[in-house]
Amino acid sequence: MSNQCPFCDEEGADKGLRASSPEVHHICCSVCGEFEYSPVLLRGLSGDERAKYRVLLQIRKLRRLGRLCLLETVPKKLNGLMFNVVDKISFLKQWPSGSHFFDEILLNLSFLEPVPGKTIRFETDARDGHSRPWAYALYDLDRKGAQKFSVEALCDAGFLKQSGSHYMITAKGWERIESLRTKESGTAFVAMWFDDSTKPLKREIEKAVAGAGYRAEALTVDEVEHNEYIMDKVINLINDARFVIADFTCIEEGEVINGKVKGGSRGGVYFEAGYAKGQNKQVILTCRNDEDSKSRRHFDIEQINTIFWEDSDGGVKAGGLLFADVLKNRIIQTIGQGPYDAN
Ligand SMILES: [Zn+2]
Repeated sequence: MSNQCPFCDEEGADKGLRASSPEVHHICCSVCGEFEYSPVLLRGLSGDERAKYRVLLQIRKLRRLGRLCLLETVPKKLNGLMFNVVDKISFLKQWPSGSHFFDEILLNLSFLEPVPGKTIRFETDARDGHSRPWAYALYDLDRKGAQKFSVEALCDAGFLKQSGSHYMITAKGWERIESLRTKESGTAFVAMWFDDSTKPLKREIEKAVAGAGYRAEALTVDEVEHNEYIMDKVINLINDARFVIADFTCIEEGEVINGKVKGGSRGGVYFEAGYAKGQNKQVILTCRNDEDSKSRRHFDIEQINTIFWEDSDGGVKAGGLLFADVLKNRIIQTIGQGPYDAN
């Protein structure tokens, strides 16, 4: 049996089958990085898709992003898998299009040569250019002239400057890179009730967010203390976040403090989720699987796909699976792998 990397054919990259279900191979490739893949996925890939997988994996390695388990579809049971699971459709969606295309190339080049003032050489006469970092940084899929077009477009925009056979990222280019990196935020904002009854949920959400390569930010402040300063802070945290997790659980209603009932549905969660939606951010909905919480959700959100959780002796579960696993995979499938290493 061959022990080549399934995407770039490097010899000795395949470290064999993992003892897990579904069956996956463990790859340590000096070109594509470390990942797992299933032979089922590979058999279903067209030549063009395989080339895209190769380029995207090489870019992930360049940007030092977390390790992935590449499968055709996400299985029901995730036990035994070491790396974050990404199905074929989600993975290929990472291929940039439209105006993102040049932004992503610029970001890649900033990882390729992170020192401002240093030059990059695009060796267009190289015999096997596709194992060379600059070629995949430009998303070059064997289309002749594609890389030249991208480099020219970045020069025209003032982000790159040519000097002889070398290129350099300009001050304007670094400014652009800086703003792109901020936009590629690695934080998630968590909107939920914070009290003793929701502590296990908070812990599991943080575990899921970290497992998907993000950091969780939440403002653990009591509703009663909300004032303008706190609201500014909430808005800023949501603006900086890549996505929002909103839990619509109802907690027990308690005493009235300063004319406000404590507990019940948390209005702040609706505000925060709605604000995030208006900012074009993805919002993942969760809710405790009890009649009170479910029936008191506002009809505006009832139709939205929600992860229902239960806190039992076996921990926090969703549909019989570990809630943290279910949420982590929802994040990776809908938002994508975060910038921090999950392992
Ligand atoms: Zn490889």
